[in-house]
Amino acid sequence: MRVRFFGVRGSVPTPGPSTVRYGGNSVCVEVRLADDTRIILDAGTGLRELGKALAAEDHRGTLHMFITHAHWDHIMGLPFFGPLYEKHGHVVLHPVTEASGRRMRNPILFDGEHFPVRFADLPATIETRDAYGSHRIGSVTVTHIHLNHPGGAVGFRLDDEDGTSLCYLTDNELHAPTGQVTTPDDLARFAAGASLIIHDAQYLPSDMPAKRGWGHSVVDDVLSLARDAGAARLALHHHDPDRDDAALDAIAASSAEWARTHAPGLYPIVAREGMTIDLDSR
Ligand SMILES: [Zn+2]
Ligand SMILES: [Zn+2]
Repeated sequence: MRVRFFGVRGSVPTPGPSTVRYGGNSVCVEVRLADDTRIILDAGTGLRELGKALAAEDHRGTLHMFITHAHWDHIMGLPFFGPLYEKHGHVVLHPVTEASGRRMRNPILFDGEHFPVRFADLPATIETRDAYGSHRIGSVTVTHIHLNHPGGAVGFRLDDEDGTSLCYLTDNELHAPTGQVTTPDDLARFAAGASLIIHDAQYLPSDMPAKRGWGHSVVDDVLSLARDAGAARLALHHHDPDRDDAALDAIAASSAEWARTHAPGLYPIVAREGMTIDLDSR
């Protein structure tokens, strides 16, 4: 599996001189399987850049899209995704609940009011395939888990035949004060032995308690989850819009130090727009 980050920012895009190194586009990750099957995780503004990258390599295959939830930062890129405007474009949306299926079959962004083009007028072929249980795409099996987030969100695990595995878990508050649907232990089991966990790490301890209940995790809790899951790598993702490049550098340094002390087998990184990670089986 090859994982490419096209957007790593949470809540709202943050262009500007203080975020150029880690990037300001909201969340979007592409996963490429060994047989060239493409899976897209979230459709934030990074999706626009992904569309351009696909055009540059003249990719014409099917694109499988999983969206964690319908908050703006996770869907804002959809109207600007080039393949939707190509006759040969083929995008498959994979809802995991009936409610998300209804939203995907009739996306608010394409209602003629929020954007001038209506969904039915897009030239591409757009399919919706329910993925309520475990789901096979190319060489991977995709499973999902419900996360602790206002309004709900869904995390995904991709297990490839070659033994590599990826967990995409955002947006999630590991220690939610109310309405916890998944405990940290549940998530550690779900993510057990993952080659890579990508997890929402929007907050620092200094943001608490003001942002308790907002549906995002503190970096330290995410590091503990990755250790408990026995993951090989961890990408801290969905960065706070107020976190500039220097602040993210500091999180990278403190996370590496934490891992040296508490989880010597774990390799944590701070996700950065444009970053590519090749997963290898252990
Ligand atoms: Zn978000
Ligand atoms: Zn959200």
